[in-house]
Amino acid sequence: MKKVFSLLLCAAACICAKAQTGPDVLIPKPVSYTLSKGSAPVGVPVKETIGSRKFASAIKDLPEFAKKEAYRLTIGPKNIKIEAEGQTGAFRARKTLEYLRAFAGEEGSLQCCQILDYPRFAHRGLMFDLSRHFYGKDFIFKEIDLMALLKMNVLHLHLTDDAGWRLQIDGYPLLASRAAWRPQLLWADWDEGGHNYSQEGAPDAFGGYLTKEDAREIVAYAAERHITVIPEIELPGHSLEVLRAYPELACTRDGEPVFTSDLCPGNDLVIKVFQDILDEVMDIFPSEFIHIGGDEAGMGAWRECPRCQERMRRHGLADTDALQSWLIRQFDSYLASKGRRLLGWDEIMQGGLAPGAAVMSWRGTEQGIEAAASGHDVIMSPTTYCYINRNQDSPLENGEFVGGYLPISGVYSYDPAQGFSNTEHLLGLQGNLWAEHIPTVENLEYKAFPRAFALAEVGWTPQELREFEEFRPRAVSLVKYISSIGYSPFNLERELGERPESGVALQHLALGAKVTYNIQWSPKYPAEGAESLTNGVQGGWTYVGGRWQGFESDMDVTIDLGQTKTVNFIGAHFLANIGDWVGLPQRLEISVSADGANFVLLPPVLCQVNAPARGSCYLLLGSFLDNAQVRFVRFKALRTGKLHEDWIFTDEIIIK
Ligand SMILES: [Zn+2]
Repeated sequence: MKKVFSLLLCAAACICAKAQTGPDVLIPKPVSYTLSKGSAPVGVPVKETIGSRKFASAIKDLPEFAKKEAYRLTIGPKNIKIEAEGQTGAFRARKTLEYLRAFAGEEGSLQCCQILDYPRFAHRGLMFDLSRHFYGKDFIFKEIDLMALLKMNVLHLHLTDDAGWRLQIDGYPLLASRAAWRPQLLWADWDEGGHNYSQEGAPDAFGGYLTKEDAREIVAYAAERHITVIPEIELPGHSLEVLRAYPELACTRDGEPVFTSDLCPGNDLVIKVFQDILDEVMDIFPSEFIHIGGDEAGMGAWRECPRCQERMRRHGLADTDALQSWLIRQFDSYLASKGRRLLGWDEIMQGGLAPGAAVMSWRGTEQGIEAAASGHDVIMSPTTYCYINRNQDSPLENGEFVGGYLPISGVYSYDPAQGFSNTEHLLGLQGNLWAEHIPTVENLEYKAFPRAFALAEVGWTPQELREFEEFRPRAVSLVKYISSIGYSPFNLERELGERPESGVALQHLALGAKVTYNIQWSPKYPAEGAESLTNGVQGGWTYVGGRWQGFESDMDVTIDLGQTKTVNFIGAHFLANIGDWVGLPQRLEISVSADGANFVLLPPVLCQVNAPARGSCYLLLGSFLDNAQVRFVRFKALRTGKLHEDWIFTDEIIIK
C-alpha cells in the first residue's frame, strides 16, 4: 500500500511540474533570477511599488538608462510583487508577467521566483520601411504589441523614399497627394516600370500615407508601451518622389531639373523646405532623435549643377562628400536649435560629421566604431547581422529576398560591443526590414519574427548569459505562441539551415590540384583564392558567404592534376540568382591534355536549364568521358546572349 501511494504522489508531482511556467521560457532572457518553492495560480493579485529606497539600492550601480527600465518581479504563492524606479521599469515587469501567464495558460501556474532584470543597451530597435510598400497603419499597433513583449523600445519608421512619401505635410501637400502614390502595387513592378507616380484618387493609384492623426496615434500607442518612435525623413538621396512633386528642389542642367534621387544641396530652397517639413515632423514625433537618412546619395548631378558648384566655391568645399556634409550640418544645427538630435545612416560621416550627430552604422561595424571613437553616439545595424529582410533559410522558402542568407543563429551571434574599445557611445542595436520584397504584413512578420527575438535578446541580455543552443528552444516556443495569437512568423521548427552540401567534404580527383586562372576571379568575390575550386568545400546558399568564387566575365581556368589519371567526369558547381545578376553559364568548353601542350576539346556542353526568375538555383554542369587519360583540364564557362551581363559564380570543380 505504501509503495502504491508514493507512486501516485510522484505522478501528481510530475503533472504539476509540467504545468508550472518559470523564467526559463522568457525572451529576452532575464539578467538574474532565483527560483523558490511552490507555485502561484496565474490569477494572484499583483502589487506595484514604484521608487522604493530598497529597490533603488538594489540597482544603484547600473547606468541611468538601465535603472529606468530595471525591475524586480517576485512571484509568491499568494501574491506577486513588482518593484521599479519608475513607470518604464514597472511596464517591463508587467510584460514579463504577461509572458509567463501566456505560457502558463489559464489552467497553469507560475513557478515561484524572483527576477531582477534590466537591459544591456539603451536602444533596442526595429525599423519598418513604409515607403517601398505601404500597408496602412493598423499593422503597426500589432507589431508594437509584440515589440513590447520582447522589451524592445525603439520603432524607427522609414517614412520617405523614392518609392513613396508616407506622411502628411500640410505645408507641402503634393508630398501626400502625389509623391505617396504610384501606378504599381508592387515595388518591383514600379522599379522596372520607370519610377512613375500617380495622384491620390486616381484609378491607378497605389500607396498612401499616414495622416498626422494616424502618426500621432502611433506615437501615443507606442509611448503607452514605453517605445519611442523615431521618424526618418530621407535627404539628400532617396528623394526622387520629392523631386517629382516639387521639381524646383532638383539640381539643374541647362536650366532644366535633373531627376536623379538627390535633392540639390546648392539650393537654399531645399534647406527651407526641409526645415519646414522637419518642423511639422517634430510637432508629431517627440523623440530626441530625428533621422534624416543621409545614405546612398548618387551625387552625380551635384558635379554639374551651377547652384551646387557655387555652394562649393563659396564655402570652400573640396568635393561632393564635403557638400553633403555641409548640408547635413545645416540640419544638425537646426534640429539642435529645437532641442532635438540628428541621427543618420553612416554615410553622414563622409566629409566630416556634424557635431551633435549620431550615426546608425549599417554598411559594416567599423563605421560605428569609428564614429564612437570620435565622440559620436552610435546605433549598430550592420547588414551582416541586422538586415532581417535577408533570406533566413533555404532560398526555397517563401517569398523573395535580397542580399544573402542571415539565419536566426547569425543574428544571435552578434555582439554589438565587439571591436569597441569603449562602449560609452554605443547606444545599442536595431534590426532593419527594407521592404522592396515585402509586399504584405504577413510577409513582414514572416521575415521579422523570430529573428527579432534574437535582436531583442542581443540588446537586453548580458553577453555572457547568451548561448544560441539554449535560446533556440525558447524561440521555437515563442513562435508557437505568437502564431496562436494571429502573427505569421517563420516556422523555426521547419528550418533547413545552411545548404547541406556546403558542410560536406568532397572527394574527387582534382582535390588539392593546382588551378591556373586564365581569367582572374573578381576581387569582390575571391572566395579562398586560388585554392577555392579544388579544396573539397562547396559554397552555401548565398554567393556573399565567401565560399563561391565570382567572375565578372567568363570563367577560364586550367587544372593540373599533378600526374596522369583515369577520368570519367569533369564538371563544376554553379549558382544562379537572376535577381542579383548572377546567371548560369550558357556553354562549357572543356579540353583535356596529357602533356599540357596538346589539348583535345570535348563536345561543348550547352546549358539547357533556365535559372528561375526568382530565388537561387544550384547546378552541377559537366561532361562525361570514357576512361580518358588526363593530367591537364582547361575549363571554360561562357556567358552568351542576353545573359551576357550576368556574373558567374562557381565553387568546386569535380573530376572523377
Ligand atoms: Zn544642385
